[in-house]
Formats: sequence, C-alpha cells, structure tokens
Amino acid sequence: MKKILQFVYCLFLLTALPAAAEIKVFACEPEWAALAQELGGDKVSVFTATTALQDPHHIEARPSLIARLRQADLLVCTGAELETGWLPVLLRQAGNARVQPGKPGYFEAASHVRMLEIPARLDRAEGDVHAAGNPHIQTDPRNIGAVATALAQRLAQIDPARASHYQARQRDFAQRWDAAIKRWEQQAAPLKGVRIVVQHKGFPYLENWLGLRQIATLEPRPGMEPTSGHLAEVLEKLKREPAQMILRAAYHDGRASEWLAERAKIPSVVVPFTVGGSNQARDLFSLFDDTVQQLLGALR
Ligand SMILES: [Zn+2]
Repeated sequence: MKKILQFVYCLFLLTALPAAAEIKVFACEPEWAALAQELGGDKVSVFTATTALQDPHHIEARPSLIARLRQADLLVCTGAELETGWLPVLLRQAGNARVQPGKPGYFEAASHVRMLEIPARLDRAEGDVHAAGNPHIQTDPRNIGAVATALAQRLAQIDPARASHYQARQRDFAQRWDAAIKRWEQQAAPLKGVRIVVQHKGFPYLENWLGLRQIATLEPRPGMEPTSGHLAEVLEKLKREPAQMILRAAYHDGRASEWLAERAKIPSVVVPFTVGGSNQARDLFSLFDDTVQQLLGALR
C-alpha cells in the first residue's frame, strides 16, 4: 500500500511540474547567484544563501536554508571546501536527491578554474587550510568567465529544452565580460607591483590578476582573528618592507586594519569582495568597477 501511495505521489509530482517551470537555483554566494541570473534570465529563479556581509566560511545551517535547498533544481557553490562547515549539513537535512554531490544539479565553481595556494602539506593546525587550494576564486574576473561557460552548459544539461537560451545568453555575457576585463586591466595598470597587507588570505586571485604583492596578513593563521602580538609583528615588518595599503573584504571586522593603518600611515581599503559588498557593487560588472576604483583610490 505504502509503495503504491509513493508511486501515485511521484506521478502527481511529475504531472504537477509545468513544462515551462523556472529552474530553481540555490546559490551559496552572491557572485554565483548573480552569474546564474545573467545566464538564466527569466528562466531561472535564484535564491542566495549568504550576503556579502557574511563570512562564507561560517554560516549557520538555518531551517530556512534547508527549506530552500529542498526545492532547488540546481545548487551553485564555490566548493574547494569554502562551505565545508555548513553545506554538507544543509544537503543532508534537505534530502534533495537532485542536488547531491555527483548529480547534475550539484555545481562547484572551483572545479572549473586553476586553483592557487594548493598546500604541499596539509596541516589543519595552520588554520583554515583548504586541501583543494584557496577557495576565494571570485576576485579574478577571468575565473568568473570560465565558470560562466561551465555553468551555462550545466543549465543546458538539466533543462535541455532551453539549451539554446542558455548558450545564447552565455555568448552575450562572455562578449560583454571580456570587454569589461580589458577595461579593468587598463584602469588597474598603476596597481601592478603595489605592495599590500591583507586581513585574510582572501585575495590571491585578485593579486595574481592585477600583479599586487602581498607582504603580510593580519590574521596570524587563516580564519583566526588578528591578535595584538601578531599586529605588532606586522607593523614591525612594514618598517623594513613598507606596504602601500591594507585590504579587507566587506564582511571583515575593520578594527585590526584601522589600527595598523593609523600606525603604518597607509590607507585601509574595503573591497566589496562579492556582489552587494558595497552600494556600488550591485551586479558582477559593478563589483569589479568598484573593486578597481577602491584600489586606485587608495593609491592616490
Ligand atoms: Zn578564506
């Protein structure tokens, strides 16, 4: 009897799903939500699990997130262990077979870019060390372009009836994106070789893209709050090896940066880090417009 009921229920679900339903996307971070929206247009409805003002390493697996994931057709997350503290819990609790790892509905952005800072030796005592490399890939727009190609293919795979829609939008996005990258690279030319201090090791892709040189980090170990002892060491180091600015993401507490900025007499810069991290960063394009402008502003 139970089997029959389940069967009838399945039939009901199948027939209840309208042919032209929007694809429900569950994005772990705002940058992937924005990208899914760019590629899907009005054929997707996108939910974003976190905001730019939250630390994506540490998110609470709230019931509202579980409910959203239960409905999703496609999960789009960074991967590379960024969400290791909360996504597995969400996936378990949601029990949605479509979006489990290995299924077409499970998409990890980091699998589609060249990873930096892959540790030669894995020692968790050294802080939030990620075996797959540094997960903060979204700070290099070239990575976003690579992820866009893969994500459009994935959308076409799970929604084959609209494959040409996703492909056309991806081509259009790629054209505008490549032109924007050229523009940002021209604008950011004065940043090449600029020495920076960062709060968290969150910027290796940005540094690699623009040629910024990281001198020190405010966190003694990745994910660990700055201590006064470590800050004093950084200040001492800057006397021998001066830096030109201190960088942090919108979600970071600013006290350590401001403390150091005052004593080292260099500006501290807040970059949006993702969509929504500043009033200006309202989509992927304005995210990088604002990032470049903030960095150039600190150079003046
Ligand atoms: Zn991190």
